This record gives sequence, C-alpha cells and structure tokens, in this order.
Amino acid sequence: MAFSFSTRLTDLKKAENTVWDIIVIGGGITGAGILLDAQSRGLNAVLVEKEDFAWGTSSRSTKLIHGGLRYLKQMDIQLVREVGKERAIVHKNARNLVCPERMLLPIYSDGSLGWGLTSLGLKVYDWLAGVPKDEQRKMLSAEKTLLHEPLLKKDNLKGGGLYYEYRTDDARLTISVIKTACQQGAIALNHAEVKDFTYNKKGLIDGIKLIDHIHANQHTLRSKVVINAAGPWVDDVRSFQKNTTNRHLFLTKGIHIVVDQEKLPLKQSAYFDAVDQRMMFAIPRGNIVYIGTTDTPYNDNTNHPYPGHDDVDYILQSTLRMFPDYPIEKKDIQSTWSGLRPLIQQEGKGPSELSRRDEIFESKDGLLSIAGGKLTGYRKMAERIVNRAQRIIGKRLACQTQHLVLYGQGFDSTTDVQHLCHRVNAIINGPDFSGERLVHLYGHFTMDIIERAQAKSSNESKLSLSTLLQAELEYTIEHERVCSLSDFIIQRSGMLYFDRARIDQHQELLNNVMSAHTQGIPTQFKDAQEAHLQKAYQSVIAFR
Ligand SMILES: Cc1cc2nc3c(=O)[nH]c(=O)nc-3n(C[C@H](O)[C@H](O)[C@H](O)COP(=O)(O)OP(=O)(O)OC[C@H]3O[C@@H](n4cnc5c(N)ncnc54)[C@H](O)[C@@H]3O)c2cc1C
Repeated sequence: MAFSFSTRLTDLKKAENTVWDIIVIGGGITGAGILLDAQSRGLNAVLVEKEDFAWGTSSRSTKLIHGGLRYLKQMDIQLVREVGKERAIVHKNARNLVCPERMLLPIYSDGSLGWGLTSLGLKVYDWLAGVPKDEQRKMLSAEKTLLHEPLLKKDNLKGGGLYYEYRTDDARLTISVIKTACQQGAIALNHAEVKDFTYNKKGLIDGIKLIDHIHANQHTLRSKVVINAAGPWVDDVRSFQKNTTNRHLFLTKGIHIVVDQEKLPLKQSAYFDAVDQRMMFAIPRGNIVYIGTTDTPYNDNTNHPYPGHDDVDYILQSTLRMFPDYPIEKKDIQSTWSGLRPLIQQEGKGPSELSRRDEIFESKDGLLSIAGGKLTGYRKMAERIVNRAQRIIGKRLACQTQHLVLYGQGFDSTTDVQHLCHRVNAIINGPDFSGERLVHLYGHFTMDIIERAQAKSSNESKLSLSTLLQAELEYTIEHERVCSLSDFIIQRSGMLYFDRARIDQHQELLNNVMSAHTQGIPTQFKDAQEAHLQKAYQSVIAFR
C-alpha cells in the first residue's frame, strides 16, 4: 500500500479528479472511523486533515478505551452497554494497541465513593458491558488494596475495587484506522485544510475547496456527501456554509501531566478522588507516569490550548492528597498535553454534567456534521453517520467494521502480542530498549522497522538505539505519510509527551533523516512546521 510522504501529491491529484461518495473533513478518530466504515462498505471515500492526522483532540486524551463507569453514575444505562460492547470490539480488532489495564479504585471513609455502591456499581457495569469473567471486578480489603498500590494514602482507607479498563495510544489508533481505510482504497491527505464549500444548482453542498499547506495550492474536490468531523472545529467548518447561524459546541479543556516513574513509582494504574468531587487517573507507561485530567470551559484559541497554572496546581494537589509520600513539584513535570472536548451544548449544565454522547446534525444544504462522543465509541459513531449518508446517496451497503482487524494489528490473543514483544527484545537486547513500546505502537510492522534497522547495521545482535530510531522515522515517512518532524515526534511516536530526552539526544539525527527523505519540500512549509514544533515544545511546559 502506498501511503507515504512521496505519494501524497499523486493522491491529491487523484482526489481532485474523482467524484467521491463521501468527503470527510477532519483526521481525528471520528473522521478516521468514518473513512474506514465508508470505504469498507464499498463506498469511495477521501479524508482531508488541516494539520497532521490525530493532531487535534485525538492525540490528547487520557488514552483509555473506557467502559464508561462515569455514565453509570449518570444512570445512562444504554450508553454503558454500548461502550462496553465497543470496547471489546476495538480490543479484538487491535490487541496490541488496545490492551487490558487493571485499574485500582481506592475507597476512603471520607471519599466520594461508598464501599457498597462501588461494589454494586462495578458489578452492574461488568454485567452491562459483558465483561469477560477473568476481568470482572474484585473488591479488596484495605490491606490488599495497599499490596496492589503501596503508595496510596493510608488514612481512612476502607478498601478498593479492582476492575479493567483498556489502554491505548489515541494517535496510533487513529493512524491505524486511517491506514486500514487506505489499504482498502481510500485516500487520506494531511496538511490539507478545507476553506469553503461548493454548491450545486439546487443549493446543496457538492464539494470542498481546500488549501494544500505543503505546496500552498488550492484544490477543489467533489462528492455526493460531505461529512464534517472536525472535532472542536465543527462550528468553524460550519461557518463556511452560506446560511449558518447557531453554534452547537461547548468546548472544555482537559490537561495531563507527565512525570518520571522515579517521582511517582506506581505499581499500577489508579482512578481516584481529585480535590473536588471529580475523579482522576494516574497511569504508568514505560518509564513515566501520566496523571489527569481536568474539565473546564474553554473559549480561547482552539489551535493551541495550553496547560494553565490552575490546571497544573489542581492535578498536583489531587495527586499529593492520594500519594502523600511522593510530592511532585512543577519542576518535576517533563511534559503535558491539553485537549479540547467537543461537547454538545445543553442549556443549564456544567462541564462535567454535559453528556458525552455523540450527535449528528444535518443542514438544509446537505452537510452532515458529527460531534461529541468518545474515542471508545468511534466505530459505532461512524456506522451511524455513514448509514445517514447512504440515505442521501441512495445506497444500502452493510457496515463491515465489527470484524475488521486493523491493518498490521492482527493478533489472536494477548499472549501472541507478548510473544512478539519477547522476539523483538531478544533481537535488540539493549538495556534502554523496550520491545513493548514498538509492538504497542506498530503491531506487526515492528518487524519492518527492525529489518530496516538491521539492514543499516553490520552486526545485527547489536542494533543501536539511534539506528532503530532512524528506521522508525523512515518507516513512518514511507508508510504513514509523515511530512515533518513535528508529525513524527508528536502524533506518530508520542515522543514529545513520553520521551522528551530521546528527542534532545538525537535531534541532529532526526533533522538529517527528515531532510534527506523530504527533499524538494517548499521552505515555507518546512519553516511553518519548525515554528509549529517550537510552539509545541514551549506549550507543554507553558505553566512554568
Ligand atoms: C482531556 C481529554 C481526555 C479524554 N480521554 C478520553 C479517553 O480516555 N477515552 C475516550 O474514549 N475518549 C476520551 N476523550 C474524548 C476523545 O478524545 C474525543 O472524543 C475524540 O478524540 C474526538 O475526536 P474527533 O476526531 O472528533 O476530534 P479531533 O481529534 O479534534 O479531530 C478533528 C480534526 O479535524 C481537523 N480539522 C479542523 N478543521 C479542519 C478543516 N477546516 N479542514 C481539515 N481538517 C480540519 C483538526 O485538525 C483535527 O485533527 C478525551 C478528551 C479529552 C479532551
């Protein structure tokens, strides 16, 4: 499959010379899911993204495929059932990327959750979500809770609930869904921003006008249906319509902080009371732990949400209250990320009360817009909106994604994933190397990266980490349409958030490899991307 930086222009030309069934605006998880759903049904679909794939909220979430415990608190039984089922499907179709994660929920006599209600709630949740027997909740005494996580505050601890969530990498899930769609014949273009719509004689939208940010050219694409899946920018895209008035979205900001494992050496993930009545996650990942999130109304610049002092203080205070022997200071924070929730407006409701359900809006000129929802529910959201689009197109093709394994992510079991990790670790065999990271992010394509690195190295038992990093970057340029270092460091590898030291250590190598593989790229785009990266470096520590 040709999904490289170098085939992008050919794809853009093809996109312009085709009348599509569906054009999708937005390359987050929602747009990615729609692209895959449409293409795998037999429709022909193209996706355009103004920055890089997963550049918006879909690289800035808590990175969990939730069962939706909080919806149970809101008594939204139908939603709990749906996301529970979806979670199992998403796991089955990408076992390396969506992995079971045991979560500890400590219960305190002065906390927001009572023992009885938590026990019952988790049980009902297991039942509604159809959780497999070996992952069903266990209630623990205070003593056993501390055995699972010794760092927890001991005062007033009554016990804990142990249950399962699934951890993922949101940006990698998004790119995997997009790659699967492209393998089936779809086209996906990053750095292509929609600026306007085109209309037919009946006044219905029949296409888009976009700017290719790499070559600074304008293009027009035609289709039977246009779907607006622009996340927090849904209302901005709607403002290009001839007759739009009302806004639909209410944005809230959520931030996470990242610290070294040494600063908070958690044995396992925890879901605990924050200093207000909200709940917060602390999740170990490799050598770091990330903690979040917040939920505050947001009316500022949608392109660059920053973590504010208040956001960071709130997380630090909540963490200190739960893990009092490990005070974290601002200077310990390696990185942060801030995302915007594209929630649907509901009169008289506060940020945390707003429903996380998705909603479809159909305009008189035929534009379909979708917002709300979760990473977890992307497949079902896509099914619903493609069903709606088919009514406009006049087709009745069935949804195919329930059993569609994502490209390169086919594993029969979690044990199979572990076998690949062992195999990779045996080949690399280095003290700072974790095969798990590569297998989690790239699935079976990990072997492509390793073979590429081996071809560069004369002694295959001693692959250096820099050779491996070079191979990883090259792989993403050639097979994942990486067009700039920013695309690689942020969306494809997550290094900006999880491994900042490695970027600093290999900055020159990364620059050289990128330049060698993207020759002929206009300076204007390169400069813009460099500025973008600098802004990203600064924004993750903006609170200091
Ligand atoms: C802090 C936080 C934590 C969360 N945690 C979880 C979690 O753990 N689990 C879970 O299931 N959900 C979680 N969510 C929710 C989930 O992340 C979002 O629902 C989901 O990522 C939204 O995806 P999207 O594709 O709709 O939007 P986005 O990912 O923002 O994608 C929209 C895309 O459209 C592009 N775009 C905008 N305008 C244009 C244009 N004019 N032309 C072309 N492209 C355009 C943008 O660049 C962007 O990439 C969380 C959300 C937040 C904020």
